[in-house]
Amino acid sequence: MTPDMGRTTTRDLRRRNRAAVLTRLYLHGPASRFDLQRATGLSSATVSNVVSDLVADGLVAEAGLLDSDGGRPRTLLRVRPEHARVAGVDIGETHVQVGLFDWTLETVATATYPIAAGPPDPAVLAGLVTAGVEEVTAKAGADPGGLLGVGVGVPGAVLPDGVVHAPTFGWSGVPFGALLRPRLAAPLRLDNCARTLGQAEMWRGAARGARRAVVALLAVGVGAAVATGSSGGVTSAVSEWGHTVVEAGGAPCRCGSRGCLEAYIGAEAVLAHYRRLPGARNLGPGDPERRIAALLADAAAPGPAADTVARTAEYLGIGIANLVNLLGPDRIVLSGWLGAALGPAALPAVRDAMRRHALDHLAGGTAVELGRLGPDAVALGAATLPVHEVLTHGGRTGL
Ligand SMILES: [Zn+2]
Repeated sequence: MTPDMGRTTTRDLRRRNRAAVLTRLYLHGPASRFDLQRATGLSSATVSNVVSDLVADGLVAEAGLLDSDGGRPRTLLRVRPEHARVAGVDIGETHVQVGLFDWTLETVATATYPIAAGPPDPAVLAGLVTAGVEEVTAKAGADPGGLLGVGVGVPGAVLPDGVVHAPTFGWSGVPFGALLRPRLAAPLRLDNCARTLGQAEMWRGAARGARRAVVALLAVGVGAAVATGSSGGVTSAVSEWGHTVVEAGGAPCRCGSRGCLEAYIGAEAVLAHYRRLPGARNLGPGDPERRIAALLADAAAPGPAADTVARTAEYLGIGIANLVNLLGPDRIVLSGWLGAALGPAALPAVRDAMRRHALDHLAGGTAVELGRLGPDAVALGAATLPVHEVLTHGGRTGL
């Protein structure tokens, strides 16, 4: 072995140890040196050295004492919220929402801009993202160039070079990353919004502690992400779940096919079905969120609104049963604004449909839950992208 290789190996090992300790503290909250030793399998000397480094670098601080049974009290360690700030951007179907978060992902400031109807111009959206990052950093008195990074979630597939395919926007091969990167003073991380949402629910929401969770993003479009507990990261996207077929020759879908799940449970599809039923009332103008809220208000009593909710729950249950049969998750989380709106009324029927359509031995081990992160979930998820990168590198910035 040459001396050079030796040095590289030592540095890699140090980084790996830092990453293991920091990720454990970051994702699972305060812990003592002894807890960290047990969780990471590192020796007590290594944990002590790594913790001293992390404290010296300002990433971690001591957070009081924990009484241990009869023994001497143990010092708890936690990540320092003030260590860094990070921006997360949700490019949704109707708005661009930008959040500024501290290092532990508590919200510091937010800004929201509506998107005009029709396929959005990539340059206009890039302008909204930069305006939003400037607005939230100005509100917080922060330097945009001092951010850990800017994470951006888009409703489409993102290739490694930042090229986006987003049928929702009519985008095919749009170099959105290249368009956005020069406008930002901090490193950019771009990914699919279902993946960012999945990571947010895994770190801070209803998927926390799951072995393998599928987080479903329900809105006008329908997507999902698979997250596993071991790495803390989202391992794979099944973002086109909405275009899996649930009815041969069924309802036309905006992707050009027929019978897609999205053509039954996407917000516009739900509203279109309701409009065709006898006795349906005019839900008025406005964005789909407002009209879905009006429909749900009517669904408390028997009638076309209640029938629409029941039908949506049945198809959602079928879509979930397909995920259960394919992936065998222990938890399914219904998230996105439509999941939050529809969930309380539809959850029992969704669970029932899932049990009827999935294999018994798989359905028995799968819990279906509602997301817990509210309307900031996708922006929060986008902020996890730069944070995850930093955790992977053991807390080193300047990626
Ligand atoms: Zn489709």
